[in-house]
Amino acid sequence: MRRKLAAGNWKMNGTAATLSELDALQDAATGAAEVLICPPATLIAQAVARAGRIAIGAQDCHSDASGAHTGDVSADMLKDAGATCVILGHSERRADHGETNAQVADKTRAAWGAGLTAIVCVGETLAEREAGQTIDLVRTQLAGSLPDAVSGANTVIAYEPVWAIGTGKVPTTDQIAEVHGFLREALTARFGKDTAGAIRLLYGGSVKASNAAEIFAVADVDGALVGGASLTAADFAPIVNALN
Ligand code: 13P
Repeated sequence: MRRKLAAGNWKMNGTAATLSELDALQDAATGAAEVLICPPATLIAQAVARAGRIAIGAQDCHSDASGAHTGDVSADMLKDAGATCVILGHSERRADHGETNAQVADKTRAAWGAGLTAIVCVGETLAEREAGQTIDLVRTQLAGSLPDAVSGANTVIAYEPVWAIGTGKVPTTDQIAEVHGFLREALTARFGKDTAGAIRLLYGGSVKASNAAEIFAVADVDGALVGGASLTAADFAPIVNALN
């Protein structure tokens, strides 16, 4: 059985004052679903100190363990700060920092080496969807971003169509089902049924309280990676509760 996961990606938002949202989220975190918040790196240690039942993750890591990489943070440092997970290959990092699938795979290895679960993101742009390239694109990203030693414990996959992120546009449930079904199939072909069956697949992109239940009813959707609606407990708790 895959445990449902409600993951919040705060992106470049939040100061120490924002951490009071973690207190307000505790009730929702008593249910069956795992609740994860990924604040900016500056807040990880403070978030861990008041996390309660909520797991705390990070939004990126460097692929090296240490060294001359000004401004970067290693997976070991995130682990040391108390993070349990790290989002890797988010489309905003692929776009803003030119991250390639090979770099995401290197970061994933680094995350595993530090004992972190990697939440590896894939997803097409609007132009790619309109050109009928969604499945090919996701296939290439998945194959290139995942090293061989994948397990249900060390990896979560997030399908985030770029055109749905922060836009209020959400794919139809058929479109989500098609990609999630493909992801499960591709993971099964490469890693076998048991491993593929243990890996959680999250949907991300404009998830809100009003559409969460419908999205969570789609086959092979094991939870969500939520941006804007994870910033306050008032918005995020109903999403968590739709999974509980
Ligand atoms: P929104 O929920 O704000 O659309 O962001 C989704 C996302 O990018 C989560 O990683």
